[in-house]
Amino acid sequence: MIHKLIIIGSGPAGYTAALYAARANLKPLMIDGGVGKGQEMLGAGGQLTITTEVENYPGFEHGIQGPELMRTMRKQVLRFGTEIVEDIVTKVDLSERPFKVWVGDDLYHARVIIVATGASAKWIGLPEERPVWEGGLGGAGISACATCDGFFFKGKEIGVVGGGDTAMEEAVYLTNHASKVYLIHRRDTLRASKIMQERAFKNPKIEFIWNAAVERVHDPADKRVSGVTLRDTVTGLARELPLQGLFVAIGHKPNTDLFTGQLNLDENGYLLTNHNVRTSRYGVFACGDVQDHEYRQAITAAGSGCMAAIQAERLLEAEGDTDILETPTHW
Ligand SMILES: Cc1cc2nc3c(=O)[nH]c(=O)nc-3n(C[C@H](O)[C@H](O)[C@H](O)COP(=O)(O)OP(=O)(O)OC[C@H]3O[C@@H](n4cnc5c(N)ncnc54)[C@H](O)[C@@H]3O)c2cc1C
Repeated sequence: MIHKLIIIGSGPAGYTAALYAARANLKPLMIDGGVGKGQEMLGAGGQLTITTEVENYPGFEHGIQGPELMRTMRKQVLRFGTEIVEDIVTKVDLSERPFKVWVGDDLYHARVIIVATGASAKWIGLPEERPVWEGGLGGAGISACATCDGFFFKGKEIGVVGGGDTAMEEAVYLTNHASKVYLIHRRDTLRASKIMQERAFKNPKIEFIWNAAVERVHDPADKRVSGVTLRDTVTGLARELPLQGLFVAIGHKPNTDLFTGQLNLDENGYLLTNHNVRTSRYGVFACGDVQDHEYRQAITAAGSGCMAAIQAERLLEAEGDTDILETPTHW
């Protein structure tokens, strides 16, 4: 059997693509990520399953819990007839159509594919971070998303870990909420661009702590952060820093290992797409965080999922009911 459309991933992007595709009668098959692979890759529902309050997804006046939002999206796509395989795609062959998608030994064929595999925040690797990505304790004081969680730290003293553009941007943004932001960096120079460095340097609420690695966070197990132990990377000395929140801003890893060598990626591994969410391969669209290193929000992921489904529908409509599937090199 050749499916018209296979959607890989079930975050806001994948579910929105499934909703539009199912309502357009494409009978999409979604492979949802199953139980995931822990920190490296989250399972069904994606990143919002590890957070608590989501206050910036329109339509919920008083906010909604991340896992509940994702459960609702799932019910909605099931209502319109999306078929869901609860597992992980292990291999794809996009060299010709119908495309081949493997889930272990099971092989599926599709005329069109929508990739919605998302991205994962990189963490420092401390045991105290585990509750954040294992147990949905996003509100416990450790976060990897300033736009999402900054609001919860009004008037508080917080730390941001990192030395690149993301860390500078998050730190500057967080000064809109926090009374003080400590920018904690392992080295004595930054990787961030000059302009972002200058913006951070001249912000009076930001204080840089150089040559410092976070060794312990006190104590997310109590569902709050009260401080961190820092280790000086030059002298080896430890010191305590009282804090009420910690933002880890050391980058994200897009879930694109499956597509290396088959689709064009940028230098950080994100899928390259054009304004119509087309990838470099005819018949393969991508949406959400897997192709967006800039906005990384549920609503932008959902928006691009809608675009991918509409584009998929147009492509299939234009082709009609044919067995001859072309794979032009340009589109
Ligand atoms: C702690 C936290 C809090 C956040 N809070 C907010 C917030 O308040 N508001 C907001 O707008 N945004 C928030 N975000 C960001 C938001 O979660 C993301 O922008 C959004 O989830 C991206 O959606 P997505 O569908 O692109 O990808 P994801 O949510 O990352 O979902 C990707 C999906 O792909 C699946 N997948 C990956 N690889 C495979 C594979 N090989 N086979 C099958 N499936 C696969 C995964 O299992 C998952 O289901 C937060 C993020 C985090 C980490």
